[in-house]
Amino acid sequence: MNAIVEYIKDVFGGMKSLLTGMTVTVKYFFSPGEIVTQQYPENRDTLKMFDRFKGNVYMIHNDQNQHGCTACGICEMNCPNGSIEVIAKQVVVDEKKKKVLDKHIYRMGMCTFCGLCVKACPTKTLAFGQEYENSVYKRSNLTRILNKPNSTLAN
Ligand code: SF4
Ligand code: SF4
Repeated sequence: MNAIVEYIKDVFGGMKSLLTGMTVTVKYFFSPGEIVTQQYPENRDTLKMFDRFKGNVYMIHNDQNQHGCTACGICEMNCPNGSIEVIAKQVVVDEKKKKVLDKHIYRMGMCTFCGLCVKACPTKTLAFGQEYENSVYKRSNLTRILNKPNSTLAN
């Protein structure tokens, strides 16, 4: 007898739960408010990612093709999974040897987008970009040199 009562209680409990959910659905159907669903990929041409979106790490350059990277290596040291490799070179400026950036290598295929490199950079020269379509056939295609060709250190 008890089993039958429990069974009936379960059936009514399930129906009550279903009706609660359907009430929300019907309410939203007639009064949707702000629509947040994106029609991707149809809206590819107009889709703008949100400011806080972390798509890819990139190096900020100004109009004169200058960046702020001093090749200090702090981003490399802070990256938890070795996605960054900073290669420096020595140049002679005013008869003095100076260390400058040669290549800032970023392996996006290993990056977890944690943001530690961006936070740790003392010159604020790293930032997150808005790229969201990063599918490639070879993982090596996700390796990038973040300093642009012929770029120099900003004064
Ligand atoms: S976002 Fe995180 S995982 Fe990616 S390169 Fe920077 S520190 Fe490394
Ligand atoms: S990007 Fe920033 S933290 Fe990384 S080497 Fe350059 S100056 Fe240092």
